[in-house]
Amino acid sequence: MRGVRFLGNRKCEVIDYPEESPGQNEVLIKLRSSGICGSDLHGYRSDPSEGRVTKMRPGHEPCGEVVELGPGVTAVDVGARIMQHHYLGCGKCRYCERGWTQLCPVTEKRLYYGGTAHGGHGEYMVVHENTCIPMPDEITFDEGAYLACGATTAFQALKRLNVSGRDVLAVFGAGPVGLAATMLGAEMGAQVIAVDISPERLNMAEQAGAWRTVDNSDGSAVQQIKDLTGGEGAEASLEAVGRHETRVATVEATRIFGRACLVGEGGTVTYEATPHIIHRHLDLLGSWTFSTFVLAEAAEFVVRRGIDLGSLITEQVDVEDVPTAYEEFDRGKPGKLVISFG
Ligand SMILES: [Zn+2]
Ligand SMILES: [Zn+2]
Repeated sequence: MRGVRFLGNRKCEVIDYPEESPGQNEVLIKLRSSGICGSDLHGYRSDPSEGRVTKMRPGHEPCGEVVELGPGVTAVDVGARIMQHHYLGCGKCRYCERGWTQLCPVTEKRLYYGGTAHGGHGEYMVVHENTCIPMPDEITFDEGAYLACGATTAFQALKRLNVSGRDVLAVFGAGPVGLAATMLGAEMGAQVIAVDISPERLNMAEQAGAWRTVDNSDGSAVQQIKDLTGGEGAEASLEAVGRHETRVATVEATRIFGRACLVGEGGTVTYEATPHIIHRHLDLLGSWTFSTFVLAEAAEFVVRRGIDLGSLITEQVDVEDVPTAYEEFDRGKPGKLVISFG
């Protein structure tokens, strides 16, 4: 079966992987769609000597159908359309019980599909039954893949921020997570200001329902957001870039008694305690992906509100064309890219 392998230094290839069969409490998934997520670029770009290039097949936004059950499986049936929650834990601790398996403290039981276990960038994958989240019929496989990391990461961060129609919401970064935050945040009632440095990405943010867009190429986002909000700043802000400068701007663009949430990973940031946090009475939040239950909840929200998540998917590539798709995504191609399997 064909699948992708990362080589590091911005190279990947498509190879033949051996067939896999499900063990105890595992199922075999036939992939129908596998999203390419911003965090995949960390491994894709890294030097192999840094040890961050996964030996496993990448892809942590798997979506497909259950085609074979291993012994003891009761949670899911053959034929089920599922989104895969790409983490596994011990299944017994307080975090696992609440569906937050990525927080499981039993490190030897922890798996990260697409990192420490084979992921979705291949025709089939074997997963634990408890990682399969049934998908509503209204959700397409490509949308399910988007929900399996990027879009639900945005949804969970919006929940952390308690976003509502009373808010102006500033979203820094109009990549896949920021675009979903824009679309879902607007649907929750917020007036969204989308911030990016790419006109094409800002154009997509506008299509996603942004109230205003702000081009931050000259670093003036904070001033522009203040100008749009009577000098006060946004009630809520979300950072989906992961850079020091945008993390500082996210806080500075948030008004007194506002909330700011960091989502983009990696690197560092330095805040000045008094002006940035204390005198701002700021709620500074962090949000890392989502639980199994929130994945189901995000899909339900998308269906109930008739949200066209699919309109943010700009490219569906064949598995053989994945190396080119990664090159494009790495260069900042706007929108969501997914690998589509027949
Ligand atoms: Zn656990
Ligand atoms: Zn991701």
